[in-house]
Amino acid sequence: MTATTSEVLPYEDVVAAYDPVIGLEVHVELSTVTKMFCGCSTVFGAEPNTQVCPVCLGLPGALPVVNAVAVESAVRIGLALDCSIAPWGRFARKNYFYPDMPKNFQTSQYDEPIAVDGHLDVELDDGTVFRVQIERAHMEEDTGKSLHVGGSTGRIHGAEHSLVDYNRAGIPLIEIVTRPVTGAGQRAPEVARAYVGAVRDLLRALGVSDVRMEQGSLRCDANVSLRARTPDGQSAVPLGTRTETKNVNSLRSVERAVRYEMTRQGARLASGATILQETRHWHEDSGTTTSGREKSDADDYRYFPEPDLVPIAPDPAWVATLAQTLPEAPPARRRRLQAAWGLADLQMRDLVYAGATELVEATVAVGASPAAAAKWWSGELARTANAAGVELSSLAITPAQVAQLAGLVESGRVNDTMARQVLKGVLAGEGDPEQVVGARGLELVSDDGALGAAVDRAIAGAPDVAAKIRDGKVSAGGALIGAVMKEMKGQADAARVRELVLARLTSP
Ligand code: ADP
Ligand code: MG
Ligand code: ZN
Repeated sequence: MTATTSEVLPYEDVVAAYDPVIGLEVHVELSTVTKMFCGCSTVFGAEPNTQVCPVCLGLPGALPVVNAVAVESAVRIGLALDCSIAPWGRFARKNYFYPDMPKNFQTSQYDEPIAVDGHLDVELDDGTVFRVQIERAHMEEDTGKSLHVGGSTGRIHGAEHSLVDYNRAGIPLIEIVTRPVTGAGQRAPEVARAYVGAVRDLLRALGVSDVRMEQGSLRCDANVSLRARTPDGQSAVPLGTRTETKNVNSLRSVERAVRYEMTRQGARLASGATILQETRHWHEDSGTTTSGREKSDADDYRYFPEPDLVPIAPDPAWVATLAQTLPEAPPARRRRLQAAWGLADLQMRDLVYAGATELVEATVAVGASPAAAAKWWSGELARTANAAGVELSSLAITPAQVAQLAGLVESGRVNDTMARQVLKGVLAGEGDPEQVVGARGLELVSDDGALGAAVDRAIAGAPDVAAKIRDGKVSAGGALIGAVMKEMKGQADAARVRELVLARLTSP
């Protein structure tokens, strides 16, 4: 039996009557050179099934060996989340059948995770800090990928056949699981988004993953439940039944999915229906979730300790060294950079929201002004990345090119409108900004000869306007400047045109 009601309760009504509880599971693919238990490459986008071997294909007799770099990353992630690092722990086999999992079990950690009991302080849009408790972070391996061919949705239902690619099978994965997050109230969707954003920033700062949600190297499952409020405003105990919306793949979608689930569950509870504990699929286009599979807490995966791997026993001295070399926490780093760059709160927020901090830093490092770097990365370029559904860092433009563009604007060789065209050219692979300016003929005309002739023609074409200016009505000059700009197809230096107009009509 699945929930089919499509009704939702208005958001205000949900938060008035219920207290939302969320739980977030973030899976992150580590950017190690090789897989978790074998030497296969982890490079994204290779021909299907070219990065596989007997170990990650689970062929009989193959023996796995733990990737030391992955363990180091896991410990660093645990430390950065203020977790305790387990002095000893075994991997476990999580047994289930799925076509994209060639071994028929996933090597994971079960009751002996490498990191437990941490927290992450998450900054919300208005600057308030919300502490999210971390239950655990554990190591596991990714599965392969199925491709369902012939249907209209890309899902298995309606497909003619399915293909499977095992390149991803065995890539190191860390799963970070929060404790149930209570007390966020109406800000629960925002807390969910901010939390995943904070995890992303932290992982990026640690340099352990490329954290690309659109490529799936950072994935989020969002658990949501509602608790009724008692008449005195207290929340009922115990927690309500949760749903788990799988693989939400952008920060914005995390917020939307939690919000939608709250309104859907609210409608069901308000009508006296119950919530089915199940996984749900998120639909980006409609902004809704639909029923996936029923899932009980007692899912019987028949976990048992992995007999082919030695336990992980991180040396406490080594862990202490790693703890001392953690990078600056992203929120502190943001405050430091904002002060150094002299940006307003809003500018800084846009930039952080666009995931542009590192890019702006790199752009400033090669000579751009912080304001210009922030403007381009969190404005035009963020919009371009958004429209294409990719991360900013995957755009085909480098910090050096953005700095060069900022230089062109600053020196007055192009104006803002032209700069946007230059940007398009760079993104289209036409070369550096200088080259695009040359090839597209985008330079501003500030040469007095060419401009002067155009100004003379504008004056001759509008004697009445010219007369007004001669009579001292300088504000009428806009019409002449406009005429010159039009003739020069917007590529004239407007300030110089204005000077030339006034020099001709108001000089003694
Ligand atoms: P699963 O095996 O179902 O994925 P996990 O323990 O990995 O279980 O993750 C469950 C997530 O759901 C955790 O973040 C947990 O805090 C959260 N959670 C548990 N109960 C509730 C609840 N009633 N409402 C919301 N979130 C919950
Ligand atoms: Mg889980
Ligand atoms: Zn392999």
